[in-house]
Amino acid sequence: MSITKQLQHYASKVVDTGLVVGAGGNLSMREGNLMYLSPSGFDLKEIEDHQWVRVDIETGEVLDDLKPSSEILMHLACFRKRPDITAVLHTHPSYSVGVSSSGKDIPPMFPDFPAMIKNVRYLDYIIPTNEILADAVGEVIKDTNVIVMRNHGVLTVGKTMKEAYFFMQLVEEAAKVFTISSTVGTPNILTDEQVDDLRNLSSEQYRSKLLKDSK
Ligand SMILES: [Zn+2]
Repeated sequence: MSITKQLQHYASKVVDTGLVVGAGGNLSMREGNLMYLSPSGFDLKEIEDHQWVRVDIETGEVLDDLKPSSEILMHLACFRKRPDITAVLHTHPSYSVGVSSSGKDIPPMFPDFPAMIKNVRYLDYIIPTNEILADAVGEVIKDTNVIVMRNHGVLTVGKTMKEAYFFMQLVEEAAKVFTISSTVGTPNILTDEQVDDLRNLSSEQYRSKLLKDSK
């Protein structure tokens, strides 16, 4: 599947699953030394094949006429700091934003979350679209695939967009389960030992590998 077709596919999924509202959120993929980024002000579902904005990753030069997403600096920072990834996804999922904006972290409550995501990094609120946010993201993305920005949203990166999207779904599901459990009673959070055991499970490692290999 072409890079713009992949972007369109996941842009639609992001809207359909409620990870963004209106023209919120942005996503990009790397091909060679170019980044294809969603344009500014579009409903993600309505971006056509030729409307993904090409940006030179090294120089930051915008190669097309449409205005790129205002979070362009954040996407560039990810690709520059992580040569191993090809996809960056940024959304505003309600449970992740809700839980993290209370000052809490999103705890491990079911196996897939800690098994597939090694560490989640949290950033306190920084006004969107500026260089300070991009620098902060560039700093922490070096050792994580998932950044939760309190009072804003979530950014995930992946070897494929499929992987970045999966990480996004898992974080939001974890925040949702924690919220439901907190509403009903007292959440039972997996212990460090239980998390370690999960991460050592060969079947989980296999699934993690499987996901990375698939396109
Ligand atoms: Zn945002």
